[in-house]
Amino acid sequence: MLVRNFIFWLSTKRSVTDPIARRGMKYGFARRFVAGETLDEALSASMDLCSHGRHVSLNRLGENVTTEAAAREVCAGYIHMIEDLQAQNLDGNISIKLTQLGLDIDKELCRSMAREIAARASALGRTIEMDMEGSAYTDITLDIFESVQRELGNCGLAVQAYLYRSAEDLKRLAPIRAKIRLVKGAYHEPKNIAIQKKSDVDINFRKLSTHLLEGATQGSFFPAFGSHDPAMVAHAQAESARLKLAKGRYEFQMIYGIRRDLQNQVYAAGDTLQVYVPFGTDWCPYFMRRLSERPANCWFVLRSLLAESVQTTRQPAS
Ligand SMILES: Cc1cc2nc3c(=O)[nH]c(=O)nc-3n(C[C@H](O)[C@H](O)[C@H](O)COP(=O)(O)OP(=O)(O)OC[C@H]3O[C@@H](n4cnc5c(N)ncnc54)[C@H](O)[C@@H]3O)c2cc1C
Repeated sequence: MLVRNFIFWLSTKRSVTDPIARRGMKYGFARRFVAGETLDEALSASMDLCSHGRHVSLNRLGENVTTEAAAREVCAGYIHMIEDLQAQNLDGNISIKLTQLGLDIDKELCRSMAREIAARASALGRTIEMDMEGSAYTDITLDIFESVQRELGNCGLAVQAYLYRSAEDLKRLAPIRAKIRLVKGAYHEPKNIAIQKKSDVDINFRKLSTHLLEGATQGSFFPAFGSHDPAMVAHAQAESARLKLAKGRYEFQMIYGIRRDLQNQVYAAGDTLQVYVPFGTDWCPYFMRRLSERPANCWFVLRSLLAESVQTTRQPAS
């Protein structure tokens, strides 16, 4: 836990992440979890995934923006991503973060841009998904999601099993019949609002999974399970079988490069698997959060760096 928290803390420090960012793509270790720095690289990774029967959700990495101009640039970039998915005929959508669309600057501006993106996707017969960020943004994310989904009907939203409020939020969301991506939750939240013990988060994840699948039998939700935990996957598969829910009425989602063994198993079982494909130049904080989730990943980074430095010392000086 200490190591996890330390790496997570480092991921918030530019003085640490910038030097890593300068080396990561060059030395290749970042490519395990990041599809590349450009949209073209992400599309090429997506083509490969789609040719193996996966769906994709493109995720442009980046942190909160602080100016309207930057938010508008991100908005145009998201629209470009949808249009490129369409042009390449890829089975997928995009995942957006509202803080990249100026949520900290002006909520109405953010809402109008989220709407603009969803409208463009809808015109092309596509969907979008909204990530759920830290708890300071939960209420406003739900509000914006609800208004855009009510109007356009092509949006999905992530809901975090570690938040006590999530069961109530699902009740509120049921009437708008959306895709709900259930995740455990990735932020550090205080104990008055979030379950702290991992085993208790797992219990709630199972409970909410069952709730979503039961809702799916009534048409209230399209459940998507965003987890690499084999126990969570097995629970959702068992519950969907118990409820006799057809395979196309729910899906699994996993992150690019993580638990590829489980990704193969889910796909081989005939379930839909959507892979979350992150890309962008600002990949380092994301990459370090993935390391913090599983400190064993640090070994593979160190191995890549060592292998590279051995190669470099063997090369003749130019
Ligand atoms: C598609 C998708 C979208 C997401 N969107 C959001 C979101 O919008 N908001 C949000 O708060 N969170 C989001 N998350 C992150 C989520 O909340 C968890 O932090 C993350 O998925 C780890 O939880 P887990 O369910 O995989 O289970 P864990 O119990 O953390 O992990 C289960 C197993 O998965 C493997 N594993 C997990 N992480 C790694 C890793 N980094 N490297 C290698 N193996 C690993 C290990 O084998 C581990 O034992 C998303 C996750 C996914 C899969």
